[in-house]
Amino acid sequence: MFDLVLKGGRILDPGSGVDRVADIAFADGKVAAIGDNLSAQARTSRDAAGHVVVPGLVDFHAHVWWGGTYLSVEAERVAKASGTTTFVDAGSAGAGTWHGFRRFVIDTSALRIKAFLNISHPGIYGYGPGFMIGEAADLALLRPETCLKVALSDRERIIGIKVRLGSNVSGHLGLAPLDLAIEVAEAAELPVMVHLGPPPPSRRDILERLRPGDVLTHCCKSFPSALTDRRGLVREEAEEARRRGILFDVGHGRSSFGFDAAKAMVEQDWLPDIISSDVHVQSIDGPAFDVLVTMSKVLCLGVSLPEVVRRATVAPAAFLGVPGLGTLAVGAPGDAVVIEERAGSYDYVDFRGTVFRGDKRLYPQAIVVKGALWP
Ligand SMILES: [Zn+2]
Repeated sequence: MFDLVLKGGRILDPGSGVDRVADIAFADGKVAAIGDNLSAQARTSRDAAGHVVVPGLVDFHAHVWWGGTYLSVEAERVAKASGTTTFVDAGSAGAGTWHGFRRFVIDTSALRIKAFLNISHPGIYGYGPGFMIGEAADLALLRPETCLKVALSDRERIIGIKVRLGSNVSGHLGLAPLDLAIEVAEAAELPVMVHLGPPPPSRRDILERLRPGDVLTHCCKSFPSALTDRRGLVREEAEEARRRGILFDVGHGRSSFGFDAAKAMVEQDWLPDIISSDVHVQSIDGPAFDVLVTMSKVLCLGVSLPEVVRRATVAPAAFLGVPGLGTLAVGAPGDAVVIEERAGSYDYVDFRGTVFRGDKRLYPQAIVVKGALWP
């Protein structure tokens, strides 16, 4: 007997190579079967005909330390709007605030939440309406010893070390915050996620320091941090970093996605490895909204649906160490989303308000968390 069957949808699971119309069944919180006519054995069933069933979305760059940082939003609100079932918080908390994030948000959520721990002791503490105090601009706040101690104390939830770099975040410290983050990451055997802000430091200096498996987020930024040059060509330092195994993440946010740069990258078939929203208090009502809207933008730029879905499921899930996560393989965590690909005319905006008219948009029709319809 199955707990739930989604009937007759297009099962699209890039992680296991499945793309066909079928039923999918869930039992005991996991994916139990994919096949035909499974609903006769289901306690609950739901029609998914005409829609696409994909693994629960993994938003690799979000800020969900709601209540603990001004910056953050409620994971549940974003999840309902987008079908995100796993959030990776990108450094909202540092070692000094981790325990509260863990107890009051991560451990009480119906959703799966993992995190990059900020190298800065308080995390992203100084982000407010119309102002920002860079958490990486003062050496006194960068505490490798406590960051390492906390990272080692919670290997289940902490999947990497976050550092934000840029003139408005790391100020005159240049690459020093990155060096400290890498020190901790090496000792903890974790990847680093680097926020690319306006220089200094330069994108070349940052990329040259990153190690295989590290992540550069905000990869579709426009001038002056764009990975593409004035002619729209991907810069040599980005090519070189990709060859060395550095990963590129969208992290849309408020000011980190320009259609000019994103279009140029797509035209060269130089796609981000991961599509994420960087949803926070100043991007949740646009221009980013959530990972599903960000996926819709990339889809409208000309990337195929399977390649878009891959970048918000199995690709980010590879960092999380949860067997089967980000796929619909039998035995995988029972997280899925039924998506409607609606044709029409949709105006999308980027960080500077440029409008790009797309011909489709993805909407969540049903969300499955731990094998049951949610909420
Ligand atoms: Zn962010």
